[in-house]
Amino acid sequence: MLPLRPLPSTILFALLLACDARPAAKPEVRVAAPEVVVTPPAAAAPVVASPAAAEAEAAAPVAVDLVGLKAGLLRVHGAAQQARIDRGVDQVAALWRSEDGDLAAFVTEFFIADPAVRGATFARLMAVFEQVEGHTHEIGREVRRASDVDVGPLLSVDPLLAAYDPGARMIEDLFTTRVGFLVLLNFPLTTLAERDEHGASYSRRQWAELRLAGRFGRRVPGEVRQAVTKASAEADRYISQYNLWMHHLVDARGERLFPAGLRLISHWNLRDELKGRYGDPEGLARQRLIITVMERIVTQTIPAAVIDNPRVDWNPVANTVNAAPADSVEADAPARPVTLDGAREDDVRYALLLAQFHAARREDPHVPAAPTAIARSFEIGRELPEARVQALLEQVLRSPLVPRVARVIEGRLGRKLEPVDLWYPGFKASGAPPEAELDVRTRARYPDAEAFARDLPQLLTGLGFAPARARWLAEHIRVDPSRGAGHALQAVRRGDFARLRTRVGAGGMDYKGYNIAVHELGHNVEQVFSLEAVDHTLLAGVPNNAFTEALAFVFQARDLELLGLKRPDAASERERVLNDFWQTWEIAGVALVDVAAWHWMYAHPEASPAELREAVVGIARATWDRYYAPVLGGQGTPLLGIYSHMISYPLYLSDYPLGHLIAFQIEEHLQKSGKLGAEFERMASFGSVTPDVWMTHATGAPVSAEPLLRATGAALAAL
Ligand SMILES: [Zn+2]
Repeated sequence: MLPLRPLPSTILFALLLACDARPAAKPEVRVAAPEVVVTPPAAAAPVVASPAAAEAEAAAPVAVDLVGLKAGLLRVHGAAQQARIDRGVDQVAALWRSEDGDLAAFVTEFFIADPAVRGATFARLMAVFEQVEGHTHEIGREVRRASDVDVGPLLSVDPLLAAYDPGARMIEDLFTTRVGFLVLLNFPLTTLAERDEHGASYSRRQWAELRLAGRFGRRVPGEVRQAVTKASAEADRYISQYNLWMHHLVDARGERLFPAGLRLISHWNLRDELKGRYGDPEGLARQRLIITVMERIVTQTIPAAVIDNPRVDWNPVANTVNAAPADSVEADAPARPVTLDGAREDDVRYALLLAQFHAARREDPHVPAAPTAIARSFEIGRELPEARVQALLEQVLRSPLVPRVARVIEGRLGRKLEPVDLWYPGFKASGAPPEAELDVRTRARYPDAEAFARDLPQLLTGLGFAPARARWLAEHIRVDPSRGAGHALQAVRRGDFARLRTRVGAGGMDYKGYNIAVHELGHNVEQVFSLEAVDHTLLAGVPNNAFTEALAFVFQARDLELLGLKRPDAASERERVLNDFWQTWEIAGVALVDVAAWHWMYAHPEASPAELREAVVGIARATWDRYYAPVLGGQGTPLLGIYSHMISYPLYLSDYPLGHLIAFQIEEHLQKSGKLGAEFERMASFGSVTPDVWMTHATGAPVSAEPLLRATGAALAAL
């Protein structure tokens, strides 16, 4: 599924997103809606005693008599231009720095009153931006080519090349050359509230103008961007090494419940191991032990010595450590000291989260209309107000369907539910052939990446695209052998090609690789339509990550049919729906905890890591007690704080539940219409407008939790 990560910089606000839930998975780069917003500066940002204070001063607007300046422009251009003059001058002044020169002279020279000249300027900028951004994107793709594509052994120079970001300075350079200021002077930025209120009546040209101006809604100094990147990289490194050696967990009787060699990264592998233990007769004891480990990580009562260290045995319940017997230590054990004092990890997790917060906060004064990381995440990244996302999540969390699904699970397990069942994985499609059998089929059909490339037109007609359209799509996609599991990389200018990167082993493409490749093909097809068939290239793309993932799932869900197997039957479909509902319910609470932790940090900017730990644990417990304890018991568990995204991809988690809701909404519409190819094209070529405008055009209704709830209700009724 989703994770994303801002690239070191780049004009395009390019996002890396991996289709797997593990950030370690192969990144998939796409360009998100580059919409940013600036409102006129009411006053200099308040100066408080904090590291952000210096930034606030640096971002303070230059002292110019804006009233007099506007009056002068008004005399020249007439009252009809008043609103444009007010807005344009304020937009320029918000980001103008003293080194940019004479603000009054600039706006006097470059304000464009003549609609024909303004239209010609818009057309010129759209054409130029497509080329500049498209070619910059290609350079970025090529310096990473050997890192992403299997072109033979990696050279030592390849990671250095991959770290080069040709777009890093683009926005700053466009401000320096004053192109950015000309845009801000003559094209409107809007707030999300304005777009939500008026978006339905904007013309396509108006939308494109907003996206043009949105590119210049923030001007973040290079050193601030670097600080954000550094904090993020440090958190990432910490998370990527946070392993538990499961053989060295012991229970009260000193018994080892897990096999030797099992090394699990928190939280992904721990959660997946827990899920995998449902069929195990001794599974519940193992699952409960995993829950205790997770709770110790969240509360930071985990002994520092046991992290990624098989030389130490740990009883998580009693929280005691002992030296592991020499013959139990794995051969590939990392070199780590054996300390047996049981000293806890000392809030490293929360220190790293705080570091991300302090770095993000330095950006705040440079994005006047979204002056917190929370606002940037919701209003710029997703273009859905936080309150609206929260209401959607709560609609799922409070749904009367939750206890009904819980009763079904209870019936299947034959016991009362408990916290481990937050990750119940037992809703499973039946009747699909075993994976080994599917491997045989996919390997025979796709011995190499070229075979998959040749089959694209047939796959696309199989999905319901007309033959000519399928050929056209295939002509815009290039298939490369991938180093990682697979990813889709879009083109950013017409004439370039979207890339489908797929992993094909020596014996051909296995089923897992095929399943991922079909998902990536969904991304590529969306990318081709939303660039090649959209009416303004400034609108290329879809509203946000949740949408692009939802469209990729449309393809992925049909992978068996494309192999010539029969569609999943109604019973399998019901299981899929219930599984998605349970997962959405699970991750909705996790997402609320993530966002609440950031609100707490903004309210307590001077907090210590220990205070942040207490706060997050408190938030996680309260969220559990409100929504989960009535269903799963476990009053007061801090379990919802375990997701690693909270530390290394903060404020991202809300995209998962949103992704489920959007996928159900799109799928419900496609099933009703019965014309997948034509409808997919109609939806994907609408471009990057706000989510509600996009969804209303796509399905007739704004973004909603109802389709998921309707499908779940229907599945329960049919059980
Ligand atoms: Zn994906």
